Amino acid sequence: MKKNVKISISTIFVSTILFMLYLISLYNYLLFHTIAEIFSICIAFTVFLMTWNSAKYIKNKYLIIVGIAYLFIGILDLFHTLSYKGMEIFKDYDYYANQLWIAARYFESIVLIISFANLKSKTQVNVYFIFGIYTIITVVLLLSIFSWRIFPVCFVDCEGLTSFKKISEYIICVILFGAILFLTKNKDVFDEKVYRLLLLSMIFTIISELAFTIYIDNYGFSNLVGHYFKIFSFYLVYKVIIAKGINEPYEIIFREMKQTEKMLFDQNCLLKNQATIDGLTGLYNHRYIYERLEEEIRHSSKNRCAFVVMILDIDHFKRINDTYGHLTGDKILKNLAVILKNNIGETDLVGRYGGEEFLIMLTDTYLNDGFEVAEKIRKVIENMEFMQNIRLTISIGIEEYSGEKVSELLEKADIKLYKAKNSGRNKTVM
Ligand code: GH3
Ligand code: MG
Ligand code: MG
Repeated sequence: MKKNVKISISTIFVSTILFMLYLISLYNYLLFHTIAEIFSICIAFTVFLMTWNSAKYIKNKYLIIVGIAYLFIGILDLFHTLSYKGMEIFKDYDYYANQLWIAARYFESIVLIISFANLKSKTQVNVYFIFGIYTIITVVLLLSIFSWRIFPVCFVDCEGLTSFKKISEYIICVILFGAILFLTKNKDVFDEKVYRLLLLSMIFTIISELAFTIYIDNYGFSNLVGHYFKIFSFYLVYKVIIAKGINEPYEIIFREMKQTEKMLFDQNCLLKNQATIDGLTGLYNHRYIYERLEEEIRHSSKNRCAFVVMILDIDHFKRINDTYGHLTGDKILKNLAVILKNNIGETDLVGRYGGEEFLIMLTDTYLNDGFEVAEKIRKVIENMEFMQNIRLTISIGIEEYSGEKVSELLEKADIKLYKAKNSGRNKTVM
């Protein structure tokens, strides 16, 4: 929808300009010619400036070599405009304007075809070298027209176009046709949009050229059509450079930024994980438990709700390590972690408090209910058979929050645990 609106706005805009140019041509053809040429010259200079400044981002060598050429095509076209019939800037305008036109079109079409030679070369395009070559060619062309006067005559006032000019227009069409063939052959090197724009630009240049082959007067209808198509073809090259020199580099930058952002996010998650999770059991670590308890205290004080903490310690775990080895001890700790997780609610918290000690926080729970949960867990473990028929028991100290600090609450639970140990182990003390 948005794209359609954009297309129709630009269609109206372009149509209006073309129609106004037509009206101008009825009023004064020289004025039309000057405006139309300056219009395409401006586009040509813009194409050059954009190519020159974004050459390092443009990966397609063909576009760089063609884009730079547009400065020189524009310069030749500017001389053509200034020497057009009626401008009275140069003497013998009959010669110059048409010669400059043909020179510019030869230059343009040859660049469009010859640049394919460089398309797949591995070496980087040396923009200064290209600029230098183009400068020499342009200077030689200008000198051959204005000073040496060796450039073939193209227009004679009473006779019209010379056969050199007519044949040249056809030769230029053939060169452009060759360029189209090369373009279709190398389609894979261009992306779809660029390919279509370039192809259309070349077709429009051919149409423009054909229009000029049939005109007899410098101020004719086919001359008007020829200029229209010239503007179209230049504009399409401009669109290509916009797409490759500006839009694409931005897209690449944004894509890379998004990737970096995602990578940072993932790394951040990983670091966060590493900072809060115990490596062996996958349970929360001591630090995180502490933070969560502080949070829970704030929440409970505000909402006047109860919660309990219990510290669970494996009985005589040292013996298990001594008998079955440290690795088996590790596996048991992992299994135990799973059992603990499975025996608490979703809003509760279980973490590894220390070596073979765990901590559970039961939210919205009073001491008596907490005691029942603790006893259930203790019995589950007591009846559990770990690997190699290993059995174990745990002792639990449980405490309900009553307005104290985290450290005090944990100390109270620890004292209860100590009592459980000292009164025979495998029990819960509240
Ligand atoms: P008690 O009933 O008094 O708690 O006896 P206990 O042997 O469990 O207690 P003690 O504090 O004497 O020993 C704790 C043992 O836990 C010693 C240590 O080797 C073991 N332990 C601590 N962390 C790990 C661990 O990550 N892996 C293994 N395999 N053992 C651990
Ligand atoms: Mg122990
Ligand atoms: Mg211990």
